[in-house]
Amino acid sequence: MQTEKKIKPYKNGQISEKPYRFFGDYLWSKYGCRVLKLPINAGFGCPNRNIKPGNTGCIYCSDDGSASPSIKGISDIKLQMSAAKNNFDRIDVNTRFIAYFQAFTNTNAAVKILKETYDAAVRSENVIGLMIGTRPDCLSDEILDLISGYMKDQFELWLEIGMQSMHNPSLEFLKRGHDHRSTLDSVKRARMRNIPVCLHIILGIPGETWNDMMDTALEINRLEIQGIKFHHLHVIQNTALSAIYKSGHIKLLTMDEYVSTLCDFIERLSENIIIHRIAGDRSADSLVAPSWGLHKGTVIKAVNDEFKKRGTRQGFLYNDQSFFFFPE
Ligand code: SF4
Repeated sequence: MQTEKKIKPYKNGQISEKPYRFFGDYLWSKYGCRVLKLPINAGFGCPNRNIKPGNTGCIYCSDDGSASPSIKGISDIKLQMSAAKNNFDRIDVNTRFIAYFQAFTNTNAAVKILKETYDAAVRSENVIGLMIGTRPDCLSDEILDLISGYMKDQFELWLEIGMQSMHNPSLEFLKRGHDHRSTLDSVKRARMRNIPVCLHIILGIPGETWNDMMDTALEINRLEIQGIKFHHLHVIQNTALSAIYKSGHIKLLTMDEYVSTLCDFIERLSENIIIHRIAGDRSADSLVAPSWGLHKGTVIKAVNDEFKKRGTRQGFLYNDQSFFFFPE
């Protein structure tokens, strides 16, 4: 006899077949149309790079600071957005866009310049959102005030902060140039202004145990943020990490290990948190390892299959730990 399939509803009453709360589903249900992110490189650079000769920032950071290949060689922001649109299939009159300040550190400029730049992007045709990727130590109160000014109904505002891990030895290994306290401070000040926050996390940092990664999951629940982006640690050409990897001193997660750890993490994650990304992305011409990272569709399917096998989903092992207080 076939048993009735039980699907746990999201908090807002929506039902999803997916075992986790996926950003694409959230956008579709909120706007009723296809919403695409247009990657932007504003040329703001990063305070963690080139502060002194030879400092290339985070050990995994590529020369392009994660800029999208679709906008390579284009400096004007509006032209970048047009080029990014041309890169998508199936855009129609109903499609809407989010201006996504993705490359390097997108709060690394004077407030006046940031305002002019964000304004130019959000005033573009059919743009219904603004997403700003940055570091925790590059978010002054003035900048957060500016960002909070973009909040309005039916407008998709997100502040993406690179947390990566709650463990300071991991942040030191990655040469992030900030500690976890800095993340706590920036998240606290962003949330005081009700800015929706999406944290970036890396799974598979050398030296981190399974328990360490699950501790980061619990910490994220306590921070009461709204979104998360998962990355597996991957090695890109011409990075400091590439040299370490080639010396044989570190081991990367296999796809099975990543999928299993990620599902463990998501099971502990509050179902209120929207998952923007399941794994990192990199093209074959610049990726050193792991090669399984080239097949994102396979990773997503493996995650879904793993949840199906377990009979669990996001939040299955969630414990409300709302006793958390931000440090002064
Ligand atoms: S903070 Fe971002 S842009 Fe800056 S060095 Fe690290 S990964 Fe690169």
